[in-house]
Amino acid sequence: MTKAQIITVGVLALQGGVVEHLNLLRKATSHVQSPDSIRFTFTEVRTAPQLAQCDALIIPGGESTTMAIVARRLGLLDPLREFVKVQHKPVWGTCAGLVMLAEQAAATKQGGQEQIGGLDVRVLRNRYGTQMQSFVAGLDLGSILGEDAAPFRAVFIRAPVVEEVIAEAGSQKQGHRVEVLGLCRGPGGQVEGEGKGDIVAVRQGNVFGTSFHPELTDDVRIHVWWLEQVADAVRHGKLVVEGV
Ligand code: GLN
Repeated sequence: MTKAQIITVGVLALQGGVVEHLNLLRKATSHVQSPDSIRFTFTEVRTAPQLAQCDALIIPGGESTTMAIVARRLGLLDPLREFVKVQHKPVWGTCAGLVMLAEQAAATKQGGQEQIGGLDVRVLRNRYGTQMQSFVAGLDLGSILGEDAAPFRAVFIRAPVVEEVIAEAGSQKQGHRVEVLGLCRGPGGQVEGEGKGDIVAVRQGNVFGTSFHPELTDDVRIHVWWLEQVADAVRHGKLVVEGV
């Protein structure tokens, strides 16, 4: 009989939308197309030993300044950097999680804030203003969900956007470039200036980031896609997990 492979997916549980991600991950598993021998288990991560048990990680939305302070106090920042940039394990950051995964951030708190890095981008924090200016926008995420996919109703709450892709920002990427996977036309659907909209979904190798919060909807599609990416990495031997 083929050995089962168990993929342990952690959600960084220092602050923010942890339970929401865990719920949607559990809901997503029944839709994931992967061999029967691959199974998922989900867990909260608060310590370095817990992180070491994980094959992949989600960094939720919340408040990146708080998350960075707590991660520093718990001695988690360097293990997180190692997980993302040395071990190259799959990581997805939503909103504050995207800020944490960017190499650089603008509009940081006074004196700056610590980040994990991994994405060669500079994010602009709070691009659309305060919590009161939160909005939902239908995004075309064809490159993730398939060309004919219905728009994804994305929730933006004090969201960052990628304001610039930075070549050689310092992240060690084994030649992977930053791919832009989603654009947002803003709250009113009107793009300012010449562009096609703000960059709100990016991937670079093992690191994926979204400005918005799929975990605050009941739309499992992005979670399913991401879990399938993780399963593919296991299938192709890029990610080695425990077998039982
Ligand atoms: N503006 C917040 C930050 O920079 C992110 C907000 C969110 O995650 N909803 O951390």
